[in-house]
Amino acid sequence: MNEAKYIWMNGEFLPWQESKVHVLSHTLHYGNGVIEGTKAYKTDKGYAIFRLNDHTERLIQSGKMVLLNIPYSVEELNNAQIELIRKNDFTGDNVYLRPFAFLGYGVMGLYHKDAPVETAVAAWEWGAYLGEEGMRKGIRLKISSFTRPANTSNMGKAKAVANYLNSQMAKFEAVECGYDEALLLDDQGYVAEASGAGFFMVRDGKLISPPNDNSLESITQKTIIELAQDMGYEVVRRRVTREEAYIADEAFLTGTAAEITPVREIDARVLGNGARGPITEKLQSAYFDVVFGRNPNYTHYLTYV
Ligand code: PMP
Repeated sequence: MNEAKYIWMNGEFLPWQESKVHVLSHTLHYGNGVIEGTKAYKTDKGYAIFRLNDHTERLIQSGKMVLLNIPYSVEELNNAQIELIRKNDFTGDNVYLRPFAFLGYGVMGLYHKDAPVETAVAAWEWGAYLGEEGMRKGIRLKISSFTRPANTSNMGKAKAVANYLNSQMAKFEAVECGYDEALLLDDQGYVAEASGAGFFMVRDGKLISPPNDNSLESITQKTIIELAQDMGYEVVRRRVTREEAYIADEAFLTGTAAEITPVREIDARVLGNGARGPITEKLQSAYFDVVFGRNPNYTHYLTYV
């Protein structure tokens, strides 16, 4: 991994290698923690963090959902992220930020009320999440044998680390089967989301994305809906079944790390002409214009460092 100089932890900037935890940290045993994934892009005016406030608010809300009270305000966490980018002297064209909170050392057993909450932010330079080639040519998806946990058994709208066991199993299975990424259905059989990204398809020039009934409220999904509507596309939020995804003209994934990743195949069914679709390509390029500060209509989403 690309190490940086500092990690912010519980209010201090520590050298990267010194941000350590005890092996009996509660989260290591019982899996209650929350994370964010935020990204800064190098614009003409230096690094700008994309939708910083929305990501930080979601972190605090995820914490509330899983009974983990983060002892910092949105403003304090925003400032920690801005300062971390400044202190690390990054040079690449983008930087991934990982704000997170977890339960530390001092309490064992499931009842976590008295376990100390630790809060940290790391940042590092990270290449294309699903590969540079995938961004240009599209990736291959496998519908997973794992479904997203039902709303009665887990909280998919929390960006909770516990939810990533399900994601990891699905991802591993897909990669072992020769695919790039997993697409997970919900417990009713409708498309929910990929292991770490939202799902869109295009049919007859219209964009369709499932509602967030059983998925994370993706900030990139929200951005793409706004952007696509501004570009004149109709966007529909409705349930999608696997057979409909198989005959889509185009499909793509949305995520802070995945950005706009085209999908060229799902379970051996080739979509469209088997390459990045034309609408996907337009949206991908429009998204990069937004995050790199080249579209003046969206600069309110950028926090310059
Ligand atoms: N779903 C899951 C399970 C994710 O991990 C992510 C990545 N955060 C997303 C969707 C996309 O969310 P966002 O666009 O807010 O990064």
